[in-house]
Amino acid sequence: MRRRIAVVGSGPAGLTFARVLHRHGHPVTVFERDPAPDARPPGGTLDLHQGLGQLALDKTGLLAEFQALSRPEGQAMRILDVHGTVLRDWRPRPDDRANPEIDRGQLRDLLLGPLDVQWGRGVRRVVPGADGVRVHFEDGRQDTFDLVVGADGAWSRVRPAVSPVTPHYTGVTSVETSLDAVDTRHPGLARLIGDGSVAVYGVNRALVAQRNSGGHVKVYAQFRAPLDWHTDLDLDLSDAEAVRSGLLDVFDGWDAPVLELLRHGDAFVHRPLYVLPVSHTWTHVPGVTLLGDAAHLMPPLGAGANLAMLEGAELAESIATGPEDLDETVRAFEERMWARAAGWAEITTAGLERLVSPDPAEALALFDQVQSS
Ligand SMILES: Cc1cc2nc3c(=O)[nH]c(=O)nc-3n(C[C@H](O)[C@H](O)[C@H](O)COP(=O)(O)OP(=O)(O)OC[C@H]3O[C@@H](n4cnc5c(N)ncnc54)[C@H](O)[C@@H]3O)c2cc1C
Repeated sequence: MRRRIAVVGSGPAGLTFARVLHRHGHPVTVFERDPAPDARPPGGTLDLHQGLGQLALDKTGLLAEFQALSRPEGQAMRILDVHGTVLRDWRPRPDDRANPEIDRGQLRDLLLGPLDVQWGRGVRRVVPGADGVRVHFEDGRQDTFDLVVGADGAWSRVRPAVSPVTPHYTGVTSVETSLDAVDTRHPGLARLIGDGSVAVYGVNRALVAQRNSGGHVKVYAQFRAPLDWHTDLDLDLSDAEAVRSGLLDVFDGWDAPVLELLRHGDAFVHRPLYVLPVSHTWTHVPGVTLLGDAAHLMPPLGAGANLAMLEGAELAESIATGPEDLDETVRAFEERMWARAAGWAEITTAGLERLVSPDPAEALALFDQVQSS
């Protein structure tokens, strides 16, 4: 019997889930709040790991297309101290395909392919009942499914159907900006960033710049601060020049060429880092489950999208090829997801503590540890 399945959210988790079901000929409805795929900037680059995101793409049948699009050279990583001294300058071997980078927009388009996403269909809440799970949309409409998968990110509207837990602030905030045409407009910065990323670690502060395709660069200024740090400074976050000047104060004393990353950035977006508890589980609710950030939001240290995609692929594969009992399939999947995600949540939580730390040597030690593992 074909089950009515809906997934809420067209991020890496939701699209991978839908794409694997589609590959197995199983119908699935994707509901997305954004009115169109390009309604907002897709965000920065993602590195997809061989045993996680790339494994998920293999299950979608899109691994070869990913390999053609991705940037293995983007794995390069340079680490500087606040005086601009290069402490590490790591470059991948030419055949290294462990964690190649891909622009989020490219990954989204790859996964979207033939999927028929219902854009502009924000979900307000889901209510499990005897006859299925009722989905209430922001536009007032309702629909019923046998399984609703919440892949709707950090502030999931599906999550309350299974868990009362909400994300909490880590104490580290991030302000994001970007540079375009870096090779022609800012050749000095292009050299500083190289083919991949440059990271500068100071006391309780970090500045990271990552090359995306087409000479686009995303810059992340991260620092420990109260959530309302900008209120204390009387800073209007919608005023780019005021934020630039506020950030230059926060990073005062750092090497001038490094600070050019902030001087030339365009719009600034404030993204405080929130997380769910390291081990977020719930009592199984028939007909509803969560994937990705909705289930296990963790610090952005290269694992979230990878896990989200692998979970989406594994759940879809189990539904399409596993036993008839949908509820048993989902229950078994949740156990596997919780165990794996808790491990990564511990690693990334400890990682954030060391990267934005009172002792910048911790960041370097973590980098060396990861490289030698
Ligand atoms: C700066 C930064 C860098 C990162 N770098 C990496 C990296 O290199 N590698 C890595 O693995 N991870 C990385 N991450 C983490 C990664 O971005 C997330 O873990 C990943 O996007 C989670 O995917 P998701 O599909 O679960 O959720 P999301 O990507 O958040 O997608 C959720 C989707 O649901 C939609 N939605 C939300 N609410 C509703 C609703 N009520 N109704 C309908 N639709 C809704 C949203 O519009 C969105 O399209 C990074 C994160 C940040 C912030």
